Amino acid sequence: MLFSEASGKTQKYIFGEEEKGIVPAGNLYAKVLVDVPGLGPLDYKVPDDMLVAVGDRITANIQTRKVVGVVAALENATDLQGKRIRSITSVLNDVPPLSAEWLALTRFASLYYLRGWGEAALSALPLFFKRLPKKNHRAMLEKFRRKGIAPSVERSSTQSKPVLNAEQMAAVDAVVSAKGFVPFLLFGVTGSGKTEVYLHVMEEVLHRDPEAQVLLLVPEINLTPQLQARVKARFPHEYVAAMHSEYSDGERAAAWLAVHEGRARILVGTRLSIFSSFKKLALILVDEEHDLSYKAGDGLRYSARDLAVWRAAKNSCPVVLGSATPSLESWAKALKKEYVLLTLTQRAMSKAKLPQIDLIDPNPKGSGMLVSPEAEGSIRSELDAGRQVLVFLNRRGYSPVLSCPSCGWVSACIRCSAFTVFHKREKALICHHCGWRRPVPDACPVCGNVDILPRGTGTERLEEELERLFPGKRILRIDRDSTSKKHEAEKAFARVHAGEVDILVGTQMIAKGHDFQNVGLVVILNADTQLLSPAARAREHLFSTLMQVAGRAGRANGKGRVLIQTRFKDEPLFEALRLQDYRRFANETLEERRENFSVPFVYQALITAESDALAKAVLFLETIARRGRGVASGEVRVFDPVPMPLVRLMNRERAQLLVEGDERKTLHRFLRGLLEGVKSPSDVVWQVEIDPTDV
Ligand code: ADP
Ligand code: ZN
Ligand code: ZN
Repeated sequence: MLFSEASGKTQKYIFGEEEKGIVPAGNLYAKVLVDVPGLGPLDYKVPDDMLVAVGDRITANIQTRKVVGVVAALENATDLQGKRIRSITSVLNDVPPLSAEWLALTRFASLYYLRGWGEAALSALPLFFKRLPKKNHRAMLEKFRRKGIAPSVERSSTQSKPVLNAEQMAAVDAVVSAKGFVPFLLFGVTGSGKTEVYLHVMEEVLHRDPEAQVLLLVPEINLTPQLQARVKARFPHEYVAAMHSEYSDGERAAAWLAVHEGRARILVGTRLSIFSSFKKLALILVDEEHDLSYKAGDGLRYSARDLAVWRAAKNSCPVVLGSATPSLESWAKALKKEYVLLTLTQRAMSKAKLPQIDLIDPNPKGSGMLVSPEAEGSIRSELDAGRQVLVFLNRRGYSPVLSCPSCGWVSACIRCSAFTVFHKREKALICHHCGWRRPVPDACPVCGNVDILPRGTGTERLEEELERLFPGKRILRIDRDSTSKKHEAEKAFARVHAGEVDILVGTQMIAKGHDFQNVGLVVILNADTQLLSPAARAREHLFSTLMQVAGRAGRANGKGRVLIQTRFKDEPLFEALRLQDYRRFANETLEERRENFSVPFVYQALITAESDALAKAVLFLETIARRGRGVASGEVRVFDPVPMPLVRLMNRERAQLLVEGDERKTLHRFLRGLLEGVKSPSDVVWQVEIDPTDV
């Protein structure tokens, strides 16, 4: 299929949503977005006989390289006439042009996150659509299109629809009767039926308008298959497209194309899906909106949740942010009535009750055992009653460090300022920051002592401990190590759901989203480590993680129980957790933040620099800081450069500079002025992050 009809728009002067009239043939120039950091749209001449539309992918030469670019605008630019400007080499009219709305989204992202528009736009496309077409390009496209069609037959497992309770109904009503853009915060305890609300709202939106499309964003975790299956079962006649960072480029390209061409009306996907191109986006849902995985960790450091709200506004449609423990940012907006708050206070299934949470003493330090006698007893009686137990420890590997008691040697990474973690099964010491690994030495590399010892406990060692305590029980460990291969996590979770596992041990991978039907007890070990962390947001992350883990207990049958081993029973965080009172925790924390002039009452940007030596990075940031202080008004504060918490990563030493503003606008204006034309020494690499999450 050729899209020459789309190219019929060629001779118009189009930017964004405006049409500014007809341009005479022969004077047409294109502003082209290319994937080169720092480069803005480039001017190219449109050959007289070429049909090209705004949003088309084209090929053009940059220096000696031929690349794929996106046409951001077409202009009759008389001032460019006579200049030596290269021509577009070809138009890739294999798919319809990208929409003005998509161009506006990528432009906004580039302005907001202070990156080039070209970089923002091209990084939003699957590889297949941004590389020069290979010989089999058309054949591949046809293959994608054949795959991406809505099923015509009834699926065998059509899901029955539960009758909504009053709270759910009120939430659905509010969203479906929204006129235009309305942001909602759906605050519902775990298991309160938020997903059910999403499904009902989707159904109504899709039913109302046969062209409407829906985006359901999910965190970067392995609950995607479960949720995806639930959506597919509910919409047996729709092709439900899915996107996940683990998908191959072919899978991603097929899903992307189905959404772009409107064949898929539902897209379920992780953060990168926010940059998908839709024909008619009519609803955005963000599940677990507080989840940190919505924030991109490198490149364009966008927040998919924040872009979701922007995009809904642009499309004049509702957006629903759902969570049992909303981010403080969203909660503050709900308190200010910027977001409409919808609450679900009860667990949806009549038999399911919120679990009882108890704080218990950990074993004394140095006992060598992590599970306390009290926890052990509770696990035993739970297993005897035929229910499953979940044991949570947020640290993978066997032990976080190996050490030599005789000379004090500790296993450390040669590239990072970090310990290497002892992995017993793999017989390796691995750095969790850079992946560097070496075999476990037989003796201390410094003094030759053969009695080198693991210090501390990770999930692998915990698994051994549980095997010793509960011989014959089926114990399964789920963490990134045990599920590194594709579909391994899915299979592991399927075994838990099928009742083939008695005790599930794992990291936060097991915390989120999973709707376990037979877990009666959740045991949380060493929550204290994170409690003592100096990071400003450590506590809110801990609170939400613990609420999530606790939420795995008693989801279907009867009352679940949660045991938390802690030395800090008086900690208000635990008190709020025990009462499962998110409001209390959030309101108290926000009050503290307001008093301390901290986020979300101020806006932040973090400038980071790295080099082969810390001093160079710090020096560079100091020059920026000095310049900044010279021009900063009272509403913007420039702090001192400091080493990053993990100073050395892969042999690069890193420092950071925090800049804060009372208003988002003033902060952005200030940063643009400050960073405009900044040149770092050749051995210093720097970047800026807006709304950083780990300072
Ligand atoms: P959440 O997304 O808030 O964790 P879910 O939507 O997954 O909650 O619902 C939890 C469980 O309750 C699921 O098994 C779901 O099928 C069931 N459920 C949801 N709403 C209802 C309802 N109104 N009546 C009966 N069961 C429900
Ligand atoms: Zn030694
Ligand atoms: Zn390392």
